[in-house]
Amino acid sequence: MIAKQCTQRNLEKDERKGHELFMQKNDIVTVNIEDMSVNGEGIGHIDGLTLFVKDGIIGDLASVRITKLKKGYGYGRIEKLIAPSADRVAPVCPIARPCGGCQIQELSYEKQLAFKEKKVRQNMERLGGVSAKELDRVMEPIIGMEDPWHYRNKAQFPFGRDKDGRIICGFYAGRTHSIIETTDCPVGARENKRILEAILAYMEENGIEPYDEQTGRGLIRHAMIRTGYYTKEQMVCLVINGKRLPAAGDLIGRLSVIPGMKSICISPNEKRTNVIMGQTYETLWGDGYIYDYIGENKYRISPLSFYQVNPLQTEKLYRTALSYAGLTGKEIVWDLYCGIGTISLFLARQAGQVYGVEIVPAAVEDAVENAKQNGITNVEFFAGAAEKVVPAVCKERAEKADVIVVDPPRKGLDETLIATILQMEPARIVYVSCDSATLARDVRRIREGGYALERVRPVDQFGHGVHVETVALLSKLNTKQHINV
Ligand code: SAH
Repeated sequence: MIAKQCTQRNLEKDERKGHELFMQKNDIVTVNIEDMSVNGEGIGHIDGLTLFVKDGIIGDLASVRITKLKKGYGYGRIEKLIAPSADRVAPVCPIARPCGGCQIQELSYEKQLAFKEKKVRQNMERLGGVSAKELDRVMEPIIGMEDPWHYRNKAQFPFGRDKDGRIICGFYAGRTHSIIETTDCPVGARENKRILEAILAYMEENGIEPYDEQTGRGLIRHAMIRTGYYTKEQMVCLVINGKRLPAAGDLIGRLSVIPGMKSICISPNEKRTNVIMGQTYETLWGDGYIYDYIGENKYRISPLSFYQVNPLQTEKLYRTALSYAGLTGKEIVWDLYCGIGTISLFLARQAGQVYGVEIVPAAVEDAVENAKQNGITNVEFFAGAAEKVVPAVCKERAEKADVIVVDPPRKGLDETLIATILQMEPARIVYVSCDSATLARDVRRIREGGYALERVRPVDQFGHGVHVETVALLSKLNTKQHINV
């Protein structure tokens, strides 16, 4: 059902074609939301024009203001809900819409899980070349959260000034760098509020300027806060546009009294860049790390090391990866993109020998320390890019692999690394992925190299956001099977 209330305009002057002649920016149109995009926008159609509607939920009937028109598609935002979808829920967070953190908080959690499952399935089909029939066989149901609130153990809050000149912190609005003020995010750790208020007071009282992206002036860029889920240990790392923090004693006085505080650091970042953290960090007070547990393993976490943000779901993710690895105690296992050795240690308890490879040297130091802390001796870590280290070590030591686990960043696997993995001929490849589009692309390449896709299981690590983790298992085909493919 479609209705239009076009504003007055001079059509002769409009050079656009077809339906776009009848629509302009700021027009209000009535749209039925029929689908949702991978980015969580509602999708509706008007006279063949596809409209992406921010905060639209499948099943909504809404008055939508057109915010941008392109050839064949456009963007809009909801002016008024005429008939809300049955899957729509009231957002818990008062800034759910402007804040860029949660894209689908207004979709019921149950339907969020269905949305993510569908996203993985579609990527596998479209980008991975896996047929619907095969997917019916290999896909396992998504593992959801029991309680999708206050689950994040890490947050990075940018600092700035509001239009009245007050120092504020919060999160960036979607696709922008304007700060939506908050100290109390309902998916973040409850402890963040007190820490942020202490930092804001320290800045106000000592005349410490927040960083201004426009001018490149000001000192405090971000506060990165990490909370140990089981240990309740706290880490604060201020990213600063400089090398030194004035009145550091005052900040330390305010933060060190907060229960669980273990580590106060700074990370200098003087570059005009979107990258949040600097390349190095300095500990101002306490240790340069905190500890937390996943399953029976205890992990040391430094400010610059990657660590999964959802501790409860991470355990489920790793257990899925471990079960897909099918270990009997004898295998040689490679854990590529191993971070601080989180998955490596899970694997090591059930494998013969584990080799971990990670590009961030500080994370490798943590990984070595973590193996020691947990009394695990059958693991060795290498610092460097997986695509360089793996071929070099294999050549030097004539090392083999029974199982290879990979957990790359969003861009997925490097092509040379896939070639090396295929040459190593592991019986199983376990792929842990935070982007099912690149996972699907890589699964296609690995299948072409003589592997069968056996299992795919999404795990929801990011409730109310659109991202989803996925674990996939690929097994080496024997020659006969390969010829039959
Ligand atoms: N498996 C770990 C980390 C996964 S995140 C965990 O679950 O905690 C991906 C990791 O890959 C990050 O630690 C990142 O520093 C690392 N990384 C990125 N590019 C890399 C490369 N080319 N080679 C090796 N590691 C890389």
